[in-house]
Amino acid sequence: MPVNSAPTRLGIPRPIYQVMLAHLQTTYPQEGCGFLAGKVDAAGHTAHVTQLSVVENRLRSPTAYEMEPEQQLQAMLSGEAHGEQILAVYHSHPYGPAFPSATDLAQAYYPELIYVIVSLQQQARPIARGFYLRDQTVHLEVQLLQGS
Ligand SMILES: [Zn+2]
Repeated sequence: MPVNSAPTRLGIPRPIYQVMLAHLQTTYPQEGCGFLAGKVDAAGHTAHVTQLSVVENRLRSPTAYEMEPEQQLQAMLSGEAHGEQILAVYHSHPYGPAFPSATDLAQAYYPELIYVIVSLQQQARPIARGFYLRDQTVHLEVQLLQGS
């Protein structure tokens, strides 16, 4: 997929959004991470999430994550089965804002994926935002459509 035709909206059905939040509450106060997979609509503007894969954060850190490699591979393979594709990588910021950290920017290896970041600064009131990260900077913010 050419990077300049990437969707600018990410629809996350409410049940999947709730599973993601539950996962990130489970790993709290460490960062949690995983992938969102699904399909892009015919117009190419909106990506619709149909499945979520949890991946272990092998750093077990409150301020950084690194996906456990074998789980990452399995998640990417399963996400790309059934005509679907990996749309986004998500992770939490237990103590930080829903915005990419310097480390996130430095380690953004997937210019075609949306980086969903969930802030748990107020643990009971998670805030999620999505971004394309390219050339070690925020390229574009993606509109998250929850419950769609
Ligand atoms: Zn981060």
